[in-house]
Amino acid sequence: MKHVPERTHRAMLDAHTTLRLGGPATELIEAASAEEIVAALRKADAGDSASDDAGISALVLAGGSNVVVADAGFPGTVVLLRNRGFSVRREGERAIVCVEAGQKWDELVAATVAEGLAGLECLSGIPGSAGATPIQNVGAYGQEVAETITAVRVYDRQTGETVVMRPDECGFGYRTSIFKHNHRFVVLSVDFSLAVSARSMPIRYAELARSLGVAPGDRVEPARVREAVLALRAGKGMVLDGGDPDTYSVGSFFTNPVLTSDEYAAVRAQAGVEPPAWPTGDGSVKVSAAWLIERAGFARGYAQVGTGVGISTKHTLALTNRGTGTTAELLDLAREIRDGVRDRFGVVLHPEPVLINCAIP
Ligand SMILES: Cc1cc2nc3c(=O)[nH]c(=O)nc-3n(C[C@H](O)[C@H](O)[C@H](O)COP(=O)(O)OP(=O)(O)OC[C@H]3O[C@@H](n4cnc5c(N)ncnc54)[C@H](O)[C@@H]3O)c2cc1C
Repeated sequence: MKHVPERTHRAMLDAHTTLRLGGPATELIEAASAEEIVAALRKADAGDSASDDAGISALVLAGGSNVVVADAGFPGTVVLLRNRGFSVRREGERAIVCVEAGQKWDELVAATVAEGLAGLECLSGIPGSAGATPIQNVGAYGQEVAETITAVRVYDRQTGETVVMRPDECGFGYRTSIFKHNHRFVVLSVDFSLAVSARSMPIRYAELARSLGVAPGDRVEPARVREAVLALRAGKGMVLDGGDPDTYSVGSFFTNPVLTSDEYAAVRAQAGVEPPAWPTGDGSVKVSAAWLIERAGFARGYAQVGTGVGISTKHTLALTNRGTGTTAELLDLAREIRDGVRDRFGVVLHPEPVLINCAIP
């Protein structure tokens, strides 16, 4: 068996989440290579480590930007993915970018844009790691990683083997994949196929097209797209900023609900106006969760009296820790919003982040 890294210690998980929330882990291991990740998981899965109520003995964490960890923490091993680096291989008009799971995502996006590669530019400024992007098929401003991923190398904790999965095996959907809410597969590295091009992919998102001064479908220099996306995101508190509690979040706390045409008609009738919505192509409609939340009476900056959490002052969909909050308070705020939207519109919102050892009451 491979050696298990020495960098193990008990630690509070709030230091490893963008919400700055979460209690202790029994053991924290920093794994700086794929081999170290596999060795740490093999040891924990061998049964000599504690586990949570769901029987999960080891939790993988990278940027901590899409998790809500219980105040009680995680009663088992947390493996922090710190394997970094990427390579670029040109193949004619395409470039294959192979990236280690623990690589910071936005550093990768910046590098691909600087290299004259198109395909990731709209995903600028998203916190977290490259290896986590397949987990919920990360997306923003009209792009998602499922469009460019060609292979995902995973460690299968059930069989103990390392395998390469093709996109059609990954079950990619809107903010989901077979990896989400499933601790079986740990992503070790990801391959993306990008276009060698001085032009971005066509701009699909109306707000982004407006800010670039172009029409939807146009292409501009990827660097201009990156700049525009970063500016739009910063205005919504969607770029991490240590001095701004509006960014102590998981980004969007709820996914946009996908409704049948009848459900959508009912929401429209309730509201008396047309809600912002996007057809999904199969007859259903994705409706803006932020709009539903606002219309249900929760404005930006909303907070329950006496708590240290609240809705971001810049974006209705971001639930934030104002610096003194607890996970219990955050989940209670999520419950209040979910129930308020359900009572007003009959639509149940679902959380986007992975809830670790906790649940919305
Ligand atoms: C300010 C802000 C803005 C955001 N904006 C967006 C956005 O525009 N679009 C979007 O899609 N998301 C967004 N997010 C959410 C988040 O940044 C992404 O989901 C990101 O990919 C999470 O990466 P991470 O490394 O932080 O994952 P973590 O939070 O560390 O982990 C998230 C989940 O994935 C699992 N996981 C992580 N790495 C691996 C791996 N290598 N193998 C298997 N499982 C793994 C973890 O166990 C956990 O269940 C935002 C978050 C914040 C805080």
